[in-house]
Amino acid sequence: NAPLAEIDPEIAAVLRDELGRQRDTLEMIASENFAPRAVLEAQGSVLTNKYAEGYPGRRYYGGCEHVDVAENLAISRVKELFGAEYANVQPHSGAQANAAALAAMIKPGDKIMGLSLAHGGHLTHGMKLNFSGKLYEVAAYGVEEDTHRLDMDRVRAQALAEKPDVLIAGWSAYPRHLDFEAFRSIADETGALLWTDMAHFAGLVAAGLHPSPVQASDVVTSTVHKTLAGPRSGVILAKQDWAKKLNSSVFPGQQGGPLMHVIAAKATAFKIAGSAEFKERQERVLEGARIIAERLTGADVTEHGVSVLTGGTDVHLVLVDLRNSSLDGQQAEDLLHSVGITVNRNAVPFDPRPPMVTSGLRIGTPALATRGFGAAEFTEVAEIIAAALKPSPDVAALRARVSALAANFPLYPGHEEW
Ligand code: PLP
Repeated sequence: NAPLAEIDPEIAAVLRDELGRQRDTLEMIASENFAPRAVLEAQGSVLTNKYAEGYPGRRYYGGCEHVDVAENLAISRVKELFGAEYANVQPHSGAQANAAALAAMIKPGDKIMGLSLAHGGHLTHGMKLNFSGKLYEVAAYGVEEDTHRLDMDRVRAQALAEKPDVLIAGWSAYPRHLDFEAFRSIADETGALLWTDMAHFAGLVAAGLHPSPVQASDVVTSTVHKTLAGPRSGVILAKQDWAKKLNSSVFPGQQGGPLMHVIAAKATAFKIAGSAEFKERQERVLEGARIIAERLTGADVTEHGVSVLTGGTDVHLVLVDLRNSSLDGQQAEDLLHSVGITVNRNAVPFDPRPPMVTSGLRIGTPALATRGFGAAEFTEVAEIIAAALKPSPDVAALRARVSALAANFPLYPGHEEW
């Protein structure tokens, strides 16, 4: 019964150091967030001890009466949050939700068509080393070279030629709303099923600040840990007709015992996502991204070859285009790291630099909005990023400005360890 610090001081030090890093720096990786204390409590709990293969009321193990309550709460809350008829809350991750969704919809050898990885799609949408690229035939659509946006007429023409069995809407790096009605009509016209992966923008949908894909799509998957700010995990939503196939595709199709501690934490996260406070936070997420996009399109930065893909954003992230800059994605990521801002480099469409270097940055605002940042703080963050991306930045002075912002918004106050 000894505490972690006594049993395993090395791992205790990792937790302490990581908490310190999260506190002292500005987290702007678009796919990350800070799970609230309540979510961490549910996840770090005795529910991790429980086997519960099966579904509530139909388990292959005894003693599931309490975890059944947690799973039923998670299901009913996420259905209500998104207006879905059916939900499966067992996927361990976004990738596993996607594997289960595809396995329920089609069989190996069938064709999928999603946004290409090089233009902002996800690995699970058909990348050749991923299960999706190995099991299924893959066609990919891309953004337009001049606008960097999807042209739905071109997607339609391509889908008519390719005849995919599943058309995929969703992205990991695309700064604009998708037209779900257009995707639906293309799917209908070509005889495809429509799967939307809303992993990135689910929190915005939950808050009513982004079009919802739920009505238009046959199946919707999501992660729970990005804009939704829950535990690292996945979820599947669908029309009731899909219930049987999807349930069996997740268990026993893809997984064994569900992670009941994570499912309990999902239930808590879905409860929070239905609150007025959560909506207000998502408004700050969007406002922050708009402020950063606007600052990085200013003449003083564009004259150094820095620009913003599509000229702005509708969502929680900004894609910085460095194709005309002397800085590449790796150098820009390292530079921002040295001033205390964590982002990830990201290939831009038609990127001339190799994938490990890239010509872009993906900058997201969800984690800082969770921390409490509003317009004034995001304006200061935008100034710091703009200064860092111009020639000869004063790294020490910028690091001091980052430290001041971080100190003003304590993360997990009152907790010295986790
Ligand atoms: N789908 C999209 C669109 C994503 O961006 C991601 C993660 O980046 C995933 C799925 C995969 O989620 P996970 O990392 O939980 O497997």
